[in-house]
Amino acid sequence: MNLNNNLNNNLSTNRKAPSRVYHGGLKKNLPINNNPIRPIHPVRPPMRPVARPNITRRHDNDLNFNNTISSTPSAGNSAGVGALKMKKPTKRFSMPRTRPNIGSASQVKHGVKQIIPDVGPDTYRIIPLGGVEEIGMNMTVFENEHDIIVIDAGFKFKEEATPGIDYILPNTKYLEERKHKIRAMIVTHGHLDHIGALPYIIEKIGMPPVYTRNLTSLMLKKRQAEFPHIAPLDFKIIEGNESIIIGQTSVKFYGVTHSIPDSMGIIIDTPYGWITTPGDFKLDHLDEKPTADEEANYKIFDGKKEVLLLLGESTNIENPGFSTPESLVHDNLEKIVKEIKGRIIIGMFASHFFRIAKIVETCESYNKKLVIEGRSMKNNIDIMIQAGLLNIKKDTVINAQDMSNYAPDKIVILATGAQADEFAALMRIATKQHKYIQINERDTVLLSSSIIPGNEKAVQKMKDNIARSGAKIMHYRTSDVFIHATGHAYRGEIEWLHRKLKPKFFMPMHGTHYHLRLHADLANELGMPKENIIVPDDCNILEIRDKGTKFVKLDVKAPDNVVMVDGFTVGDIQDVVLRDRQILAEDGIFVIVAMLNPMTGRLIKSPDIISRGSVYLRESQDLLREIRTMVRTTIEKAVYDTRNTPDLDYVKDIVTDTLGKFIFRETAKRPIIIPVVLFA
Ligand SMILES: [Zn+2]
Ligand SMILES: [Zn+2]
Repeated sequence: MNLNNNLNNNLSTNRKAPSRVYHGGLKKNLPINNNPIRPIHPVRPPMRPVARPNITRRHDNDLNFNNTISSTPSAGNSAGVGALKMKKPTKRFSMPRTRPNIGSASQVKHGVKQIIPDVGPDTYRIIPLGGVEEIGMNMTVFENEHDIIVIDAGFKFKEEATPGIDYILPNTKYLEERKHKIRAMIVTHGHLDHIGALPYIIEKIGMPPVYTRNLTSLMLKKRQAEFPHIAPLDFKIIEGNESIIIGQTSVKFYGVTHSIPDSMGIIIDTPYGWITTPGDFKLDHLDEKPTADEEANYKIFDGKKEVLLLLGESTNIENPGFSTPESLVHDNLEKIVKEIKGRIIIGMFASHFFRIAKIVETCESYNKKLVIEGRSMKNNIDIMIQAGLLNIKKDTVINAQDMSNYAPDKIVILATGAQADEFAALMRIATKQHKYIQINERDTVLLSSSIIPGNEKAVQKMKDNIARSGAKIMHYRTSDVFIHATGHAYRGEIEWLHRKLKPKFFMPMHGTHYHLRLHADLANELGMPKENIIVPDDCNILEIRDKGTKFVKLDVKAPDNVVMVDGFTVGDIQDVVLRDRQILAEDGIFVIVAMLNPMTGRLIKSPDIISRGSVYLRESQDLLREIRTMVRTTIEKAVYDTRNTPDLDYVKDIVTDTLGKFIFRETAKRPIIIPVVLFA
């Protein structure tokens, strides 16, 4: 018999195609791995002797034995078989399983069509599409009667709950449905949590012009080069404290200090005051007193117009006082480069432009040679030169293969990968996979960055590897000299901003819910009434109404299920796919293939059991035998029980149910179970 034919006949799907699937990434026409599969009607002869009603197969499984087996059990059916539409066993075997927590904490059901009212006259709407339930994925919508202005389009990296996913993007459906109203995409600065999603969403929202500062535009251009199928972005470069009209809306800009140059705050003018966000910011200060330059940045707020609403970042709200000024880090780096004997290897973010410039400058003043390692580091140095932020003397930078021409004391290596990213330069150096840089006990390795949450284990492993080589390690956490400073304001700086701007209404942003709450409490302590503060969830719709006197949260939400980038596929990767990946990782999979004689209702031979990642069957012969017997009796009994209304789906469900319980009892595992019952 032809196994493939039978499978195709018996197993089909009524699974709906994901609502939005399209490509991102480098190449266009790559296979989409969540192709919808059309239902195929069964063509097998009915089971005899009883006449078989013509039942359309309803399976959530799609099997392709040529290649891989995939299963997408419907919600609440952890065992993996298609949802039974005809009959259901009275009680299903379903162990409680934690759902992957991948999106918003929203209580709103996905797929339920909500009517979102249009923005009325004299109403100002704010929708945080991301960045208010997490660190990352920052994207905020401003909307009035005439215009929509989008602020930032960041992504966040995968989480434990999203195995196999590369990035997580905010849901832009709200914007897609209103793209005729979108006048601008404003980008505050060039960090990935603000620009990461842009290439994936810009076409969908109608390619609005991108308003940003010069350096950010250069970074975006470099990034867009990886997405050649997207038309060039229409940049509008913002210089200084410009004031412009976008659509019918007046928008102003101001400079802020952050860990990347050219970061800017935004002011949107309304008749009742300004709506403003500084974006990511910190304060340059001396002993907790902002410097004159810093005061000058915020001079725009002196006495001109009231601040109606502040959208303020909350990343470091937990840290009291003021953050370490970058200038202190620069002084320390200079001292280290000057004094340390032997080679120095500095691992840091490639986006730390100021610090890179400082290291170049220091190398030049102490007559050291600089080796630059890592593609993003090289790219960003090119961008800095292009933007006029950096001047490198001709012979400062040398190639790694030429290092042996110089004394180790004369060499500084600047490398990406302080986060222990798998393929970054520092990681290759640490794991002895670098062609030219072999680390030894005379080297000093500086890790000039904090650790992004989630990377702790990888960074620890990398430090272990470096330590094994005998090199000295200086990390900002273990070192008593400051070799790293955050780009985000501490509580004291945040407080300074509130006192300076004296906003009427406040929405905390950029942080987890807990961070946002702390920030809201701070605003309250500083005298803002509770009813003037809204702590939002992703995709909440907030409005300022009644001539700027009311700040409210609507009952409806913008579509809020997150969008995932999974290889070349971008789309609503279903929860069940992620849940399957988790189950596969934790408990493995069982595939049961049984061949049924339609004449007798009996199996023609003992069922085949295929298992991966659950138990090692070769060493579990007794278990295997028991499973075979159990499956055989279960199928034959179920077939007999349903002889008057034969239904293979029911049979498969019973097998899944019974086998699931059995395996759980025997092994305490809850693998995915896929029964394949075929007619011989
Ligand atoms: Zn930033
Ligand atoms: Zn940020």
